[in-house]
Amino acid sequence: MNDNKLVDRYGRQLNYLRLSVTDRCNFRCYYCMPEEGIDFASRKELMSFDEMLRLSSVFCQLGISKIRITGGEPFVRNGIMPFLDELRQLDGLNEITVTSNGTLSSRYRKQLLGMGIKKINISLDSLDRERFHRITRRDSFEEVYQSIFDLLNDGFEVKLNCVVASNKNIQDIIPFIELTRDQALSVRFLEEMPFNGTDGKQPLFEWDHKRIADHIHQYYPDTVRLISEANSTSVNYQVPGHRGSFGIIPSFSRTFCGTCNRVRLSATGELRTCLYGPPVANLRDLLRSGASSANVANEILVAVANRERDGHAAELASQGNIHTSMSVLGG
Ligand code: SAM
Ligand code: SF4
Repeated sequence: MNDNKLVDRYGRQLNYLRLSVTDRCNFRCYYCMPEEGIDFASRKELMSFDEMLRLSSVFCQLGISKIRITGGEPFVRNGIMPFLDELRQLDGLNEITVTSNGTLSSRYRKQLLGMGIKKINISLDSLDRERFHRITRRDSFEEVYQSIFDLLNDGFEVKLNCVVASNKNIQDIIPFIELTRDQALSVRFLEEMPFNGTDGKQPLFEWDHKRIADHIHQYYPDTVRLISEANSTSVNYQVPGHRGSFGIIPSFSRTFCGTCNRVRLSATGELRTCLYGPPVANLRDLLRSGASSANVANEILVAVANRERDGHAAELASQGNIHTSMSVLGG
């Protein structure tokens, strides 16, 4: 057991690392990056798996017990499975989870299960093929939809992430709730955030968490609020009689910062103690300059100690630079 040393100045303990293993992706979701993609990091700029393992080990020594593998699309990175196999052996690490767009995850499901990785979040913003195509700029709905059932049949705990936005997928909200009638999965509706890899295109922000909740409650007035985990970012509900549940994540309103236990490491080694804040250190550069694990640990401790109170304060510290693509930030 490791003592948790990652405590920020507001007394929040951090035990959850979101590790982006690549900034590349086979989709081009409108809310995440422009159609032509972003200025992807070169191979040399990306951390090697050895670097990621070394840094993850330092994080675990500091008290991180859960790592979410994200990206970009994690499964487009060659060598991801052997990496996960090594990662899971780190002392102090209790859980690895994955976020994927569902195009490639299915082919690895037996291996994932074999490694004890059984919680997976799949991004799915529409249940309609054409809308899915417009949102992701890829015609892959059937493949992704099928992968969800393959994962469920194999016993994975599946959460669907759905970014809600006007003129995109409002008509999908209720069908998603209907999906939870017979499927034991959780659908989480997210507010769109400004991390879209553009020079400043703002989302419309017309559908905040309250409006999403009101919309759903109009159709399902007897919805029951569920008790959520202490650090949950979603407020969770269930329609009585449904096998699955749903949650609403105020990702732009940021009402959950008071209990946030996360820290993020980008594929190029940028450390962020808040999604809305600037990078506070580059741990890849530190490693490449010959720093010891103790030096790296110290850098992380200082960064965490100086963490901003919430996403609004962190945004101020970003000085308006809040359009970095989620595929870079590690969603
Ligand atoms: N490619 C994988 C996927 O899509 O699941 C993992 C990386 S993706 C950046 C992680 C999550 O961030 C996805 O659920 C995606 O919907 C969400 N996301 C990306 N850009 C976002 C934005 N601008 N606002 C809200 N959520 C966003
Ligand atoms: Fe790719 Fe995920 Fe970004 Fe969509 S949200 S473009 S799937 S990284």
